Amino acid sequence: MPIPQDLHDLLVSLDGKGYKSYKVLQGKSFHFPPFTLCFDHVQGDPFAAPSRLSLSTRLTEIGFSPGFHNTPTKRLAIEDHLLRLVYKKISALKNRVQGSGRSGEIAVQTPSQKVILRSGATIRDDSVTLILFAGLPGNGRSVLAKECVRLFSELLPSIWEETLTSESLDLDQVEDSIKTLEDYFALRETLDKKGWVTFIADGSLLPRQSGISDLPLKKNCVPFLSPDDLKEEIELPHKGKVSGMPVPKGITLIVGGGFHGKSTLLNAIQNAIYPHAPGDGRELIATNPTAVKIRAEDGRAAQPINISGFMGDLPLLSSTEAFSTQSASGSTSQAINIIEALEAESSLLLMDEDTCATNFMIRDSRMQALIANDREPITPLVDRIEELYKNFGASTILVMGGSGDYFDSANCVIAMDSFLPKEVTQKAKQIAKNNPTERKIEARFSFPSIHPRIRDLSPLSFRRGNKECVIQTRQLITLIIGKAEIDVRYVEHLIEEGQLEICGWIMKKAKDRQKKEGRQISIVREILNDIERSGLESITPYNSGKLSLPRYQDVLAVMNRLR
Ligand code: ADP
Ligand code: MG
Repeated sequence: MPIPQDLHDLLVSLDGKGYKSYKVLQGKSFHFPPFTLCFDHVQGDPFAAPSRLSLSTRLTEIGFSPGFHNTPTKRLAIEDHLLRLVYKKISALKNRVQGSGRSGEIAVQTPSQKVILRSGATIRDDSVTLILFAGLPGNGRSVLAKECVRLFSELLPSIWEETLTSESLDLDQVEDSIKTLEDYFALRETLDKKGWVTFIADGSLLPRQSGISDLPLKKNCVPFLSPDDLKEEIELPHKGKVSGMPVPKGITLIVGGGFHGKSTLLNAIQNAIYPHAPGDGRELIATNPTAVKIRAEDGRAAQPINISGFMGDLPLLSSTEAFSTQSASGSTSQAINIIEALEAESSLLLMDEDTCATNFMIRDSRMQALIANDREPITPLVDRIEELYKNFGASTILVMGGSGDYFDSANCVIAMDSFLPKEVTQKAKQIAKNNPTERKIEARFSFPSIHPRIRDLSPLSFRRGNKECVIQTRQLITLIIGKAEIDVRYVEHLIEEGQLEICGWIMKKAKDRQKKEGRQISIVREILNDIERSGLESITPYNSGKLSLPRYQDVLAVMNRLR
């Protein structure tokens, strides 16, 4: 395959020289018709992070007709589709080049199963740009030109020639990605109009391969089928009529025996805050995009927050109207997580008994008899859940297989039976009537109003050693800012590391703006809006090629976990 003569000659002239001589490539562009390849950043040695290259071309050069990408949704679908194609191609590569350290490593940003805004592939005006990472081959610490020529004449060109050229690109598949995404957004818009918080289309595939894989379970999967009593039909622009199960606003319980698919259903609902790529099985599930999973998170830190709606005075501690901690308990952390979700304007709370603190969820009449009310600071959620909906418009979907105490509050009860849902609301209501819990209601005052807080970021230093600005991520577990580490492992909605990285940059920008404008929560919303308009790389010094867009709720969740 052709390698531009100028690149070939330059590489040959570097052979055997010190590895740093590769730096002459930095900023240079080479023509691989119809693509232009630019060396945005060249690594300093073969063991460092691979060099960053950008590959760009006009969309019409690779087969798109003008106007094919004339809406933000279409652009998003195309960007995601192209990145996914290249990612798959790279994952299947067998032939690698030789060399020390990370020589010959090739990568692009890793796309999750979701379709979200990323900086690894971007469409601006009529051009598309893909960020590639390549380890330039070295022999120890000297340039290995022969292998580098191979990298740029065979391996890298084979990637784009077999995925992105007009001969290799299947425009019908691109069209399919666009239609899938447009249907998802149409479905999501339907939710609010109909008063629903989620909709799960019949035939959806909910279970995943494993707890650590977001890929669909292929074998022995029972497709979703809505119960007749809940089934609704909607009309989508491309799929046409689609039937499925909506969950209305209000309080919904998912009940059923162990291992019958309750958590799997809730997880699918939670994941559907984002659209999914074709073939995922969850393309036609859409959930209110402000949804927040609420769970116990003992050990988390919190800045002063009013949790008095759930917690009376705690032993040895001051008022719970301005409660702060370096290490919350299971129940206090869950209370904090709810208040913070309301601050972030979430209108759907998702909870699974598997990850909730029991004493926060329920307190039965026997326990009320044993432990006097004035010795128990917790007002359990069961006595507040209706207020959360009535006062703050926050619906709840709750998986609860172990207690019937929520039957009285629930508007809708869905039973999972061998992975299929049944509607059992009337039955549950009848049981609640015939078997009163005999609990005393513990809420003694109405739930305090919410006053959204925002962190004072002025003490946060981005400096570490002689580096002025350090923003790093460690998987989806830790965000490192300067010398500070933020533990985000339980912010379950973060699904790509690039979302976490951009949270760091948003905090940097928010800190700068706070200096001038004061502490206003609206700043975070504005920064996110700017990013959506101008691209993720617009708030970073350069495009790292690995950024992804988080939600408002998740940016605040990360900021709130800063110690
Ligand atoms: P529960 O929360 O009711 O105890 P889970 O949702 O954890 O049950 O599901 C139990 C197991 O069944 C999981 O391994 C899950 O992957 C699998 N599973 C869930 N839904 C389905 C389905 N529709 N088809 C096949 N397997 C499923
Ligand atoms: Mg479960």
